[in-house]
Amino acid sequence: MAEGGGNSKSEAHVDGSEDHDSSPSPEENTQDSISQRMEHILKSFQDFAVSDEAPPQVLEEVSFEGIVKYIKSGKCKNIITMTGAGISTSAGIPDFRSPGTGLYDNLQKYDLPSPQAIFEIGYFKENPVPFFTLARELWPGSFKPTPCHYFLRLLHEKNLLLRAFTQNIDTLERVAGVPEEKLVEAHGTFATSHCVDCRQKYSQEWIK
Ligand SMILES: [Zn+2]
Repeated sequence: MAEGGGNSKSEAHVDGSEDHDSSPSPEENTQDSISQRMEHILKSFQDFAVSDEAPPQVLEEVSFEGIVKYIKSGKCKNIITMTGAGISTSAGIPDFRSPGTGLYDNLQKYDLPSPQAIFEIGYFKENPVPFFTLARELWPGSFKPTPCHYFLRLLHEKNLLLRAFTQNIDTLERVAGVPEEKLVEAHGTFATSHCVDCRQKYSQEWIK
């Protein structure tokens, strides 16, 4: 329900990046600011109107409250969510592209040819040390899900969640209790790993 955003780089598969430059700090992450951001996103959708014919009206009003009302009405049964790094930054996980705090700005110690190289399969085959060092730093277990992750689980428990797409690799959706079969971890996940040669699958426990 937060933001999506394409990432067309030829990175191996581990990338929860966003094109946004900042994310709210925990104290800014109030319902008010979420509501404001939501309205901003909804307004931008309105600009996409392609025909003069009015589409069937689904929301009573195009606002955060309008969506809440629609969900509560019982007419809304198959919710699809799309989330990115923004839902995990308040858990303490860095996003990828925020200047200063983003991951790509803090990789100097690995002495890479470029920041993205740490996720490129060609570079990994040459030198896997930086990737595994970073993986250990970001390893799931030291981070707790945020209210947004628990909201996804709530949608599932209320039988409203059809699918949860995420760009994040931190597994916090799983930790919060969203079942694997509802999840599409589009940029990969720490939950499983595969041998780059024979594709043999390994568990999170094994790789740890
Ligand atoms: Zn193998």
